[in-house]
Amino acid sequence: MDNGLNNSRNDFEFFQQLINGEKLDYLDSAATAQRPVSVLKAVSDFYRHDNANVHRSINTLSSRATDSYEAARDKVAGFIHAADSQSIVFTRSTTESLNLVARSFGDLVVTAGDEILISEMEHHSNLIPWQQLAQRKQAKLVYIGLQADGELNMTDLKRKLTSRTKIVAIAQVSNVLGTINPIKEIARLAHEQGAYMVVDGAQAAPHFAVDVQDLDADFYAFSGHKMLAPAGIGVLYGKKALLDQMPPVQFGGEMIDRVDEQSATWAAAPLKFEAGTPNIGGAIGLAAAIDYLQALGMDKIEAYEQDLMAIVLKGLSQIDGLTIYGPLDAAKHASVLAFNLGKLHAHDVATALDLQGIEVRAGDHCAQPLMHYLGISAAVRASFYFYNTRDDVDRLISGLQRTKEFFS
Ligand code: PLP
Repeated sequence: MDNGLNNSRNDFEFFQQLINGEKLDYLDSAATAQRPVSVLKAVSDFYRHDNANVHRSINTLSSRATDSYEAARDKVAGFIHAADSQSIVFTRSTTESLNLVARSFGDLVVTAGDEILISEMEHHSNLIPWQQLAQRKQAKLVYIGLQADGELNMTDLKRKLTSRTKIVAIAQVSNVLGTINPIKEIARLAHEQGAYMVVDGAQAAPHFAVDVQDLDADFYAFSGHKMLAPAGIGVLYGKKALLDQMPPVQFGGEMIDRVDEQSATWAAAPLKFEAGTPNIGGAIGLAAAIDYLQALGMDKIEAYEQDLMAIVLKGLSQIDGLTIYGPLDAAKHASVLAFNLGKLHAHDVATALDLQGIEVRAGDHCAQPLMHYLGISAAVRASFYFYNTRDDVDRLISGLQRTKEFFS
């Protein structure tokens, strides 16, 4: 099943190390992805040769830094098919992007008695900002239930989506269940009721092509560090007409138009949301990451990961006593897989795998309401990216068999 993507592993120095004396099997890309040399080089070249502040001075270096920073914005716009680069706000992360929407747009449009609709599978980053907004505005936070297979219950969604709903905020891909949610359909239903669609794209944008115009998302948030870029750079896409109406939530340099002693006016979007010196190196690293992903091809990445997931699902479903949370059909399952092994605690399983060089994550995965919904306190999560191989999957399966034997 090598379609050329396996060679990409050589672009990551990271994989050359041993973990606990064993070959590294990195299965935690949903937490953070690894960075190829081209991204590391782009960031280091910036700091070595072009480092200057942006949007401030008219000297040569500042112009160069500003050009690279704005070129990164253009690249991100192209990557998610935004109509306008000025729809792209650079933030720190998905978390900051979603907080920005909830604080600025949420405070603008939500009033007492309104409803905000999210799902039972949301990451805390797409939950707590809405919980806080609901508390500030005496609005109601309503949860869409799930089907037994971990898919969103669309019947429940249609029942709960009413003229009282102001905002629908859903992950395109669940960071626990791996479920791929039908965002385009949900956005259509939301708009029919006059609600706005906010998409948490943290686990989607790294893995398949995203077209925010086709989805008709009003807002779309994602993080650079989950798609090969440095940590500390994130993106908020917003429809330009909405960004234009929204007030800034952070104030200071870079985001103003005019300032006098008692008042100030703001720069146009997106700069009004980027107060202070931004993460210029991070944006440049993100542009290099996009170059890298596009050279591989997002469609190729998606197809490869789906093949890998089919093998994982088949292998894991043959382990006696192992429970998989989320869809069992690889076509409906992005590259995140949560499970528990019999009655073993997820932390014990993760520790046993770690001793074999297999790096997974265990815990509540920043989704405590989902854990309550599933009736568990924790799960093991293995997550994959295009640089994972068939060998990585085989090692996970045999590592789990060995873990089971060890504890029996
Ligand atoms: N949303 C989802 C679905 C995630 O998986 C994550 C991170 O794991 C986040 C939001 C938050 O991302 P960040 O920590 O980069 O802000």
